[in-house]
Amino acid sequence: MSLSRAESKLSMPADVYEAFKKDFQNGIITLGDVCSANCFFCSQKWNPPHVLKHLNRMLTLEEIEHFMDRHLKSPAWIGSAIHVNSGEFFCHPHVMDVLKLLVQKKRVECNNMITFTNAMELTEEKLEIIKELNLCLHVSLHTTNISHRTKIMGGTQKKHQNAIATLSLLKKYKIHHLILLVPLKQSITSGDFEATVRNLTEINTTKIVVHRPGYTKYTPAHVIKELSVPDNFLHQYCLFLKKKYSANISYGFAMSDTDMNKDISESLRNLMKDKRNFSKRRKLFLYPASVRNVFPGVLKSLGMENDGSHMVKSQVFAGNVDCAGLLLVEDYLAAVKEFFLHNKGPRPEEIILPRASFDINDEDLSMTPATQIEKIYGTKVHLCGKRAN
Ligand code: SF4
Repeated sequence: MSLSRAESKLSMPADVYEAFKKDFQNGIITLGDVCSANCFFCSQKWNPPHVLKHLNRMLTLEEIEHFMDRHLKSPAWIGSAIHVNSGEFFCHPHVMDVLKLLVQKKRVECNNMITFTNAMELTEEKLEIIKELNLCLHVSLHTTNISHRTKIMGGTQKKHQNAIATLSLLKKYKIHHLILLVPLKQSITSGDFEATVRNLTEINTTKIVVHRPGYTKYTPAHVIKELSVPDNFLHQYCLFLKKKYSANISYGFAMSDTDMNKDISESLRNLMKDKRNFSKRRKLFLYPASVRNVFPGVLKSLGMENDGSHMVKSQVFAGNVDCAGLLLVEDYLAAVKEFFLHNKGPRPEEIILPRASFDINDEDLSMTPATQIEKIYGTKVHLCGKRAN
């Protein structure tokens, strides 16, 4: 891979350069994925080894400026894309300079830009500039109990005390935020989870989201066991806590079936409008497991129930991963192969995939282009819907 002269001045391997470039091109201001915590359930630890190669490296200030100036297109996130964990943005030694750069660079639109943080590194100085930029913080808190927090997240007691103290400062500076709690078996059974919700309502926390991190086939069994609290239970438990403490608490960020239905129908209608003779051609729709309850119904409502459709299981990440954002070309190729094995009729003339699996260059997380499927099967591939971020 050859780099331009200016690019080659940065001393990093070409594939790492390309990986950072891709993040910035996709509107993700990432400084590297180093974190000040070490949560035992962190999904970043168990990614497939051949994707996201640039993890665990901190960019220098010079490198950050380079990527911001040359490659930042449409900022939407600080830290990382929605589909992967990203370390702690605010533990970067030059984070204040980066925040100041964001203030100076008028072309960067930061309003309500979502930034994940464990709050361990936040200071009043940082909060003042966060306020000025109008960032929205998603605070990974998990518990208000300092010793429990230290046990599950690692790090020093002092840093965790800082995180808890920061909760009141978020109010003081009127910073738009929500609190994320990971539902661990041990926290629920020990009563720590409920105590945390009670403590948060006492300090008038505006919004609490109970969010289960993803796990993959690389995640050890003891971690999966701690995360395996049934969905039904969590829904009911959140309703119980909401009522008991008048808490603004909800389970997960997932869209409702009705919203998903509306979203997919609209995307497919737009695709039909854009492509000539689309409705007459034999199609194969590949969809992620996250939409399995609505997808067949949408096809029926659009009169496309006789076209082929196949649910794609994540094989690269596997584990509990079911969203389009973490499906790779490798997964789609396996799904097409399986579909052809069980369907001996005429081959489809078009394959339709969710756009959410691909970036602005139509490449997946391992930088493999969607057109790879076209090359292998000789069938036209269309991307449909919104991108993941
Ligand atoms: S704070 Fe987030 S990124 Fe850091 S170790 Fe914990 S889960 Fe991972």
